[in-house]
Amino acid sequence: MLSYRHSYHAGNFADVLKHCVLIHVLEYLQKKDKPFCYVDTHAGAGMYSLRSEQSLKTNEYQQGIGALWSLDGMPASLDAYRSLIATFNKPKELNFYPGSPLIAMQLMRKQDRLSLFELHNTEVKVLEAAIKRDKRVSIYHQDGFAHCLKLMPPQQRRGLVFIDPSYEIKTEYEQVLETLKQLYKRFATGTYVLWYPVVERYRIDELEKKIQASEFKNVQLFELGQLIDSDERGMSASGMIVINPPWTLKAEMEQVLPFLAEKLGAAGQGSYKIKQLVDE
Ligand code: SAM
Repeated sequence: MLSYRHSYHAGNFADVLKHCVLIHVLEYLQKKDKPFCYVDTHAGAGMYSLRSEQSLKTNEYQQGIGALWSLDGMPASLDAYRSLIATFNKPKELNFYPGSPLIAMQLMRKQDRLSLFELHNTEVKVLEAAIKRDKRVSIYHQDGFAHCLKLMPPQQRRGLVFIDPSYEIKTEYEQVLETLKQLYKRFATGTYVLWYPVVERYRIDELEKKIQASEFKNVQLFELGQLIDSDERGMSASGMIVINPPWTLKAEMEQVLPFLAEKLGAAGQGSYKIKQLVDE
């Protein structure tokens, strides 16, 4: 049974990094008129109220989008991220936070296509209501790991697969790697973006080594830490592993990550990593 609900965490420091990377990749894909596809294997509910009981219980967004909301002097791409979030809110108010499907929809053109997978019975209904009717979008109430493979290679031969599990089940650390390998076999030129949490650091060290030992080419890693790692305290950091990143992404993250580490990290504990995990 799935118990994870993203409404407790929407807009937190992990979402800030996750969605900045997502926006960058989609804006890069938009540079050509040719259509592209966006596959979201773990779509979530699509839209979150920051005034919901769940969000107010954790208040995590306060150390994420909330902390950036009124800041001056941000790097340009963070300004663009904040402006996109603002389009889902009344002027100057921060009450709602869009999930990856709605962020992607803002950046898709009429020729592009979205495929969204969400397995949770309630979340998928909320997602359907948030998307309404849009002929560019297909929503699947299915296991995103297993069923995304059926879409590969995509008709458009260009696109992004966004993999954002909750890691509720520890085998998901293995499953993400196996899914990436299968996807890459079918569509080696696609861009793949994988989110990971740092709860037990050794799991990420292992994941990095296994990616380096696999057949992937051109893999980058971007990580934002809020707290110093500790096996007892829950998530200290989170990161994005990007296969076939836009060539512009690393330079952008070199601007964004030091800024986010300073503004979103706990006193003296913010950190970041930028790595070329596998060469081109
Ligand atoms: N990608 C979303 C965003 O950025 O706004 C957040 C997704 S949340 C971290 C993970 C979601 O995956 C949850 O809504 C959960 O119900 C869903 N989920 C868990 N296992 C799944 C699976 N095997 N296939 C599809 N969805 C799954």
